[in-house]
Amino acid sequence: MQGAVNEMDHMGEGVGEESSGRATPVMAQFLVLKQANPGSLLFFRMGDFYELFFEDAEVAAKALGITLTKRGKHLGEDIPMCGVPVHAADAYLQKLIRMGHRVAVCEQLEDPAEARKRGSKAVVKRDVVRLVTPGTLTEDNLLDSRTHNFLASVTRSKATGEMAIAWADISSGELAVMQTSAARLSADLTRLDPREIIAADGLLADPAVMNLLDRPGAPVTPLPSVRFDSLAAERRLQDQFDVKALDGFGSFSRAEVSALGGLLEYIVITQAGKVPHLRPPRREVASSVLLIDPATRANLELTRTLAGDRRGSLLSVIDLAITAAGSRCIAARLSTPLCDPYAIANRLDEVAHFVTDASLREDVRKLLAAMPDLERALGRIAIGRGGPRDLASIRDALMIAGHLAHRLGASTTIGGLPENLDKTCETLSWSDLDLAQELDAALDIDLPVFARDGGFVKQGYSTDLDGNRSLRDETRHVIAGLQTRYCEISGIKSLKVKHNNVLGYFIEAPATSATALQTPDKEALFIHRQTVANAMRFVTAELASLDQRIAAAAEKALALEQEIFQSLCARVTARRDLFSKIADAAAQLDAASALAEVAERRRYVRPRVDGSTRFTVRGGRHPVVEAALQDQASGSFVANDCEISGEAKRLCLLTGPNMAGKSTYLRQNALIVILAQMGSFVPAAEAHFGAVDRLFSRVGAADDLARGRSTFMVEMVETAAILNQATEKSFVILDEIGRGTATYDGLSIAWATLEHLHGVNRCRALFATHYHELTQLAAKLPHLANATMKVKEWQDQIIFLHEVVAGVANRSYGIHVAQIAGLPPAVIRRAQTVLERLEHEGSKAPASGLAGDLPLFSAVPAPPAKESAVEKKLAQVAADDLSPRDALALVYELKGLLGVRPS
Ligand code: ATP
Repeated sequence: MQGAVNEMDHMGEGVGEESSGRATPVMAQFLVLKQANPGSLLFFRMGDFYELFFEDAEVAAKALGITLTKRGKHLGEDIPMCGVPVHAADAYLQKLIRMGHRVAVCEQLEDPAEARKRGSKAVVKRDVVRLVTPGTLTEDNLLDSRTHNFLASVTRSKATGEMAIAWADISSGELAVMQTSAARLSADLTRLDPREIIAADGLLADPAVMNLLDRPGAPVTPLPSVRFDSLAAERRLQDQFDVKALDGFGSFSRAEVSALGGLLEYIVITQAGKVPHLRPPRREVASSVLLIDPATRANLELTRTLAGDRRGSLLSVIDLAITAAGSRCIAARLSTPLCDPYAIANRLDEVAHFVTDASLREDVRKLLAAMPDLERALGRIAIGRGGPRDLASIRDALMIAGHLAHRLGASTTIGGLPENLDKTCETLSWSDLDLAQELDAALDIDLPVFARDGGFVKQGYSTDLDGNRSLRDETRHVIAGLQTRYCEISGIKSLKVKHNNVLGYFIEAPATSATALQTPDKEALFIHRQTVANAMRFVTAELASLDQRIAAAAEKALALEQEIFQSLCARVTARRDLFSKIADAAAQLDAASALAEVAERRRYVRPRVDGSTRFTVRGGRHPVVEAALQDQASGSFVANDCEISGEAKRLCLLTGPNMAGKSTYLRQNALIVILAQMGSFVPAAEAHFGAVDRLFSRVGAADDLARGRSTFMVEMVETAAILNQATEKSFVILDEIGRGTATYDGLSIAWATLEHLHGVNRCRALFATHYHELTQLAAKLPHLANATMKVKEWQDQIIFLHEVVAGVANRSYGIHVAQIAGLPPAVIRRAQTVLERLEHEGSKAPASGLAGDLPLFSAVPAPPAKESAVEKKLAQVAADDLSPRDALALVYELKGLLGVRPS
């Protein structure tokens, strides 16, 4: 804080009110900027600090855990204030953004010295140069390198009611749009997992829409409806992509154009007019991607676990990408599996190529290891936020792209490169190696993050720059010589030549000896300028002239470096479309070779996906459970088949004990669908199925209290979604239905659900249940097959074999699992008694009929245990009266009672 106060005083910029009661000029400036940026915390640059005032200060101080102070007055009240040092601002920004705040960054647009020239009371020019919001970040330290940072825009056409969603990642230039609907909006948003959502304020007034948009970790920003006007949006898009019509990019609906236009408007607002590099909009067709509803996506733990961790998710098992962009590509493919068998096969061809040609895979992965994040470096340069290191990233990426193209081209695998890989190779071969060489010649070895202080251009690149630099550096040597001479002249050994922004170069001598410089003969040379604590400061004519020369040379050198930087950035920006294609090609290459690496390490096979409704998996495994078992070396996974083909038995009713592996089996088949349709090999010995259009699951059992839904209600909502939407091409897994209510209610719901899936939805489905009564339906429903998890009973114990076989389970072994889980023995014994009784009488009388003599819900007294012969004998023994010999005889007698033969 102190630094800021000094700076303000130094600049004469007082905060608060003048004695007249009017706001000081700087406060007036602050208030205007604050008013222009409502809803954002205003980071107001004052010298080396960003200051926050009023309510912003209170919010930020609390959020950041920094001291809240007071400064000046406004309308008679103290002004709360806090500040963060500019050099550490990124960390504070990151914290605020993570907490869902938006920040308006206001910079000083001129040197305070310039302002002073306009008069002592003049205020430094300032303006907001950027709004930092969660969806519009570009800085590496504010972003997660392995995930996309999407900003999404949602619109609904007033005329047609059509909805659209557009999304962009301005750090990488991706821009896409698709048609959606109220029914699927939530699924689309969950798939994209945006960091921020924008929508017209008019649309947000509809509580149903607001409810669909409301999701944790993605604040919704309202914008005036006019920002989404489709005619203005079309013009904006045409300007942005420099085209006369958008048709070249696809035929967009009005809702799609308006979603894209609103998105661009918002990006331009947040970047204070600077337009980042964005690729032309890609139109995604809803039917081309496998739709996975939000609950299924969460429950299958695709990109993160239910607890929110990446570790333990499917992504963590299959992401062996070398580069961050490759990881983002794998995550995007996993979140958006395809539906078109041809497109899927194209991706699989690529993976297969890398599986077959291991040496190509190894070489490509080695080259990728040195590949920087080209997309993000390009994004920063295009928006004027790049630095010398970003240029170095472009240099390295272009060089490596060249090597990759060369290595791919040299692949002599029989049949040549598959279609996708061939295109990738071609794109990489367009790499601009001349520019890479130019960058290499220009950039020094150790590079600063920012260009503003210079020091990044290599010696020998520009003669002009070298000349000014040596002038600057030589003069510094002269200064060192002068210091020695002044010491000699004055006889003060501790005299130093120093520099600051106010005095320039000056001589500083300790106060105790400085009087030696104030004798008449010395005064002609040493001109006193300042007395500070314990020291006096002097200047000389020689120093002043040197100062000017040094400053001029340094200024010129810096200006030349900036010129070089700008011209290199301009050359990069001019080719950004090509470079962004190269970045994309490298990311795809990384993804394909990484998926091949997974296939190789984990023994995955190529699946066959066609247009049929069959579903055949032989030797399928759960990728995450298998990986966990492998990694912990704790046993091996038992592979299982699954045959639920459309025209035969498309429904499988799975019964079996608790802990036998039913959930694992259901999930593994759903995951095999997702993996195959994203273009990955799958954990199985063989997989062949018809492309799935929608994947549904009812597997979780959590309430959603925030939305006012109990566990059972959530279960029913998910079931309703399946029954209302599943088609013949869908794949459904249902793990327990109706368990959250009374037995007969639950059973009836499960029964009716199964019939509906069989007769109406006609989808492929796996249905796990403990309602053994349902297995009778197999006799009535021709497309339903019963399967069960095999177990072995051995010495009163059951062993889970995790094997799925045709048939029906005879018991659930729930009490056995309860025992393993550590329920008290008294409870286990009592449960067994109740179970025996229920099994005996349950078929004759409903459970309530038992309540009279078997109160199920009252406190359970410990049952009288039957005394064994050993216990009876021991009860009769008077232990104190036994001699050692008697005791030995007793032990033999007891062993005899237990049937143990004497040894
Ligand atoms: P419940 O009815 O209690 O929900 P379940 O039958 O659904 O149980 P799962 O949760 O699928 O059982 O599996 C229980 C445990 O068995 C899991 O921890 C899993 O690691 C292990 N398991 C499941 N299937 C297999 C398999 N095929 N091979 C090896 N281990 C398995």
